[in-house]
Amino acid sequence: MTWLEVAPNIFSIREKSYRFSQPSVNVYFVLCDNGHGILYDAGYAMKLSFNDFLTNFTRLVQQLKLEGRLRKEVAFHDIVDRIIVSHEHHDHSSGVPLLRRYFPRAIVCASAATAALLKHQSDFVLMQQRGFPMLKEMIKDMLMNFFLRLIRVQPSIKIDHVLKDGEEVAGGEYNFRVLLVTGHSPSQALLHDEQHRMLFTSDLILQDISTWLGPPHSSYRGYMEAMERLAALDLSIMLPAHGKMIMHPRERTMQLIKFRQLREEQIVKTCAEKSQSIGDIAWRTYRERGLGIYMISRGLVNLVADYLVENGRLRAIKAGRKIKYIKT
Ligand SMILES: [Zn+2]
Repeated sequence: MTWLEVAPNIFSIREKSYRFSQPSVNVYFVLCDNGHGILYDAGYAMKLSFNDFLTNFTRLVQQLKLEGRLRKEVAFHDIVDRIIVSHEHHDHSSGVPLLRRYFPRAIVCASAATAALLKHQSDFVLMQQRGFPMLKEMIKDMLMNFFLRLIRVQPSIKIDHVLKDGEEVAGGEYNFRVLLVTGHSPSQALLHDEQHRMLFTSDLILQDISTWLGPPHSSYRGYMEAMERLAALDLSIMLPAHGKMIMHPRERTMQLIKFRQLREEQIVKTCAEKSQSIGDIAWRTYRERGLGIYMISRGLVNLVADYLVENGRLRAIKAGRKIKYIKT
């Protein structure tokens, strides 16, 4: 089986990444009763990944037609009528241009903040649009496929419909409401079905790991507020963008809130005796988890330290060109 029916008429298709250090992503398809459906997240633009997805999705459509759950006369290119991009990160959004080729009538939706980031993410696209065919091909082949990916910048992506917080999204037997939350990204679009006690969590809550937070677009305060908002929901299942489904939503949410609070205390404790730089704090907090984790945790430590300054728990001191933090 290349997909999983995680709830009636909701299918999770795992799209593999062929690049080291990039995770597989769960692309969800919600089959609506009119024979069309919603894709929640667009997955990767990498050809191998996308081809895997397309093969699996084609098989799923064939199976649904065989079972009589999807009318035979519905053309393949009409099956997806909406693509909801949860946020701007490339594992969620870069597949949009490829998806548009197969589903040209699909309306691509995202929050205003996501739409703005996707629009301005690459100046190379502006150069392409000026219409130098040779240059266009050269840039496409040489830069788009190598340099842009290397520096993790992706082509500009146009959003057709801007999602608002609380907006209804009809999904057949599901009646979703858009929940816009900050934290991991400036405005992540989650889908909540109150009656079915279900939430698509994108990257905000994952089962096996805590989500990445770091400059320039994450907000630690936004993340903690979003987690409190989610903890107040009555849910029976969370459908994340990576890894396994979350079968105990409130427990997992509370576990993550406690984990972050514990790290906050650790950071305050580290700065109790003498002032510490971000590098010092990150080293003391994460060194036992290896050099790689220490390196990527510096951004997170920066966000948390600034949050603790705003809350009056730490004080920031200028020490030459560095900023150091000390407990108040
Ligand atoms: Zn993300």
